[in-house]
Amino acid sequence: MPQRDPQSKKIAPGDSDYLERLRHSCAHVMAQAVQELFPGTKLGIGPTIENGFYYDFDTQHPFTLEDLPRIEARMREIAHGKHPFIRSEKNKQEAIEYYKRKEEKFKIEIIQEIPEEKVSFYQQNGFTDLCRGPHMTSTEEIRHFKLLSISGAYWRGNEKNPMLQRIYGTAFAAESELKTHLERLGEAKKRDHRKLGKELDLFSIQEKAGPGLIFWHPKGALIRKIIEDWLRDETLRRGYCFAFTPHLAQRQLWETSGHTSFYKDNMFAPIEVDAAHYLLRPMNCPFHILIYQDTLRSYRELPLRLAELGTVYRYERSGVLHGLLRVRGFTQDDAHIFCTPQQIKAEVDGCLDFALQVFQTFGFTQSQVDLSTWDEKNPGKYSGNAQDWERTSEILRSVLEARGIAFRERRGEAAFYGPKIDLQLIDAIGRSWQLSTIQLDFNLPEKFRLEYVSESGLRERPWMIHRALLGSLERFFGILIEHHAGAFPTWLAPVQAKLLTITDAQIPYGKEILKKLQEGGVRTEGDFRGEKIGLKIREATLQKIPYLMIVGKKEQDAKTLTLRARKGEDLGSLTPEQLIQKIKEELPHKGPEPIDRRG
Ligand SMILES: [Zn+2]
Ligand SMILES: [Zn+2]
Repeated sequence: MPQRDPQSKKIAPGDSDYLERLRHSCAHVMAQAVQELFPGTKLGIGPTIENGFYYDFDTQHPFTLEDLPRIEARMREIAHGKHPFIRSEKNKQEAIEYYKRKEEKFKIEIIQEIPEEKVSFYQQNGFTDLCRGPHMTSTEEIRHFKLLSISGAYWRGNEKNPMLQRIYGTAFAAESELKTHLERLGEAKKRDHRKLGKELDLFSIQEKAGPGLIFWHPKGALIRKIIEDWLRDETLRRGYCFAFTPHLAQRQLWETSGHTSFYKDNMFAPIEVDAAHYLLRPMNCPFHILIYQDTLRSYRELPLRLAELGTVYRYERSGVLHGLLRVRGFTQDDAHIFCTPQQIKAEVDGCLDFALQVFQTFGFTQSQVDLSTWDEKNPGKYSGNAQDWERTSEILRSVLEARGIAFRERRGEAAFYGPKIDLQLIDAIGRSWQLSTIQLDFNLPEKFRLEYVSESGLRERPWMIHRALLGSLERFFGILIEHHAGAFPTWLAPVQAKLLTITDAQIPYGKEILKKLQEGGVRTEGDFRGEKIGLKIREATLQKIPYLMIVGKKEQDAKTLTLRARKGEDLGSLTPEQLIQKIKEELPHKGPEPIDRRG
């Protein structure tokens, strides 16, 4: 019998799952509108996602953006109808029969995988959908919504399945919140790293090579080199050593590390060579462990901080790949620290200090910090014993507190192998991105039976920390492009200053300036074409180059150049030497002394 849903009691905008329910209810209303406007449309799934919802449809009609206002208008009518959301249950067989009559094969597939005997449905205004709920009480609560975009999506994200059409939308409790969100989306669109990556010729993904594999073009590669150089210098300065290790290893190694069981779904299929199976690495950890184990270590060598810009390969479904942000091959700024229990606190603090320096150097001003610990009620899920978990969680907590860093503690959110600290940045338009991670590991030192000889001559097990600060260079680059909207700070810009001549008479003088600047370490380009200066300025501005040097007869006579900043401000007349000095001052601060010496 249909009933008012006991779960769907009225909730208020401040309640924790308000937006989730609102958006999910909005998805149902959208599905109703679509089926009414496009008869014969079959339904896939319609979940909520971060900041919105979607629904997947199977229809002959190819949706275009012009369809969205029509669908929205019908949704608005349904919403205004003040229809209650009504829950009902059917047993599985009944539910399958019901959908057979409606020829909804995707729904049948879902029901067949539900373990429970009974499945629930929600109905509003005569439209019924398979759904666990809960929902709003009535459609009238859906007021502030917007349909946003359309994309193709394979059923269940699998390219062997039919391609459905996905419509994305969002809903908020208040009109002002919806407006703010839409403005931010507009801004995000302008900053989309895939669009800017093309316009600024930074990177590409080549169909011929395969999805999720990144080609760094010269300008992008130059930025990466600058990032890597900075990072390597700082890494050395902080007492790390470097390693280079292979991109693949025999299966046995991944069996020892446990990756072939807990990480199997994210690994590429094995390659068979000389009757052995090799696997591309999804992580660098086991390789650094092999270096650690290559000799018997003494406490005197600890902490051993091994760093590598390590390229890894992870299988991601093609449906989730996204520009530089979600890829199949990427390079991590990875490090593993092997230390004694007494050294843990100082090492975690050192990692945190380094992470904060990364944030500051790359212009990310705000961050959210999370401390993830175990769920002490569920110890069977975790490696390590209760004492280790409590002790190390307390160490991480105290390190954060000692630095006065506000953090959220997330109980039960740690990986199975140890507690961790995660740092998120908030970008220029208020979006948050996970960046640095510092993780303790109780698992791998056990699995690989790591040892060191202690001061009293006993064999002890070292502690191990995994840490990545930028995360992946690919993803970091994507975030950096979007954060700066492609207008990189001078120290990262592939071209720092571009010279534009007003007439051909200034070409020799212009080339002289470029030579001086290059010798002074400035990255430059010249535009010596016979085009109008206005056009040259416009083109260089689109390339978001920090400085434009304009050179005409006046500048040539005075042996100067007229400097113009990226946003168009006139910075007056300078000599080439003054410009070199100015650009040097914009380099990030480097510490003069090694801040941490080992031994
Ligand atoms: Zn639902
Ligand atoms: Zn690791």
